[in-house]
Amino acid sequence: MTRAKSPTVIGGLASVRAVRRADSSGHAQKFKTRPSQTTLPKEDKAAIEQKKRNSIAARARKTAMPAKHEMLCYECAYPFVIHGVIRNVICPKCHLTLCADDIIINAEWENDIKTVSNVTIKKDGILKPCDIVARDITIAGNAKLASMQIGRLLTIEKNGQLDFKKISFKDLSIKSNAKISVKNKLTCNNIEIEGTIKSDITAKGIVIIKPGGLLQGNLKTSHLIVEDGGGLKANLKIGY
Ligand SMILES: [Zn+2]
Repeated sequence: MTRAKSPTVIGGLASVRAVRRADSSGHAQKFKTRPSQTTLPKEDKAAIEQKKRNSIAARARKTAMPAKHEMLCYECAYPFVIHGVIRNVICPKCHLTLCADDIIINAEWENDIKTVSNVTIKKDGILKPCDIVARDITIAGNAKLASMQIGRLLTIEKNGQLDFKKISFKDLSIKSNAKISVKNKLTCNNIEIEGTIKSDITAKGIVIIKPGGLLQGNLKTSHLIVEDGGGLKANLKIGY
């Protein structure tokens, strides 16, 4: 319980992180050199003790907390969270039993899919005409013929192919070395670009161009971040 004796005055999460850093680097003694508790007024002492108790409780909660899974009902579009092992998922709103499998496609595929979790189309995955409804979809293969209804995030990886006219989604992530050209206007929420996209985009959320990313065309948004090494060759309309 060396942490309980520590006089360091820092907040709950910060203290957990600091102690972890100290533990992992073997420099825990560093924290003993800070101002002594005895120099502080009484009420501050009480506050410090409370903070310590909170941080211990927070750490205990973090350790005991089961995994958290964000779900999106494909029948009624209701978002909800499940803790722990996923089995027999029932939508809290429409009360239907839902499929919650993570599905990976790495060959030819022609069946319709509905899941509240993820669908990943690997580089050898080739979709025949089918309908896919999922929370998140990642495409590294050929999904040109598929219709997709994505509740949250569409991720396009290198060599990923798709037809934007057949796809609906909220957020978009273009991964490194992925090259996308969209003829129609693209409207979405957030976009993160590590690859290349050429399009006429309206983004209601944040557009982030990461190092190595390139956005060409037209962009209308109120939040644009171009990181060092990110490229932008577009007509801009920032703010509404
Ligand atoms: Zn539902």
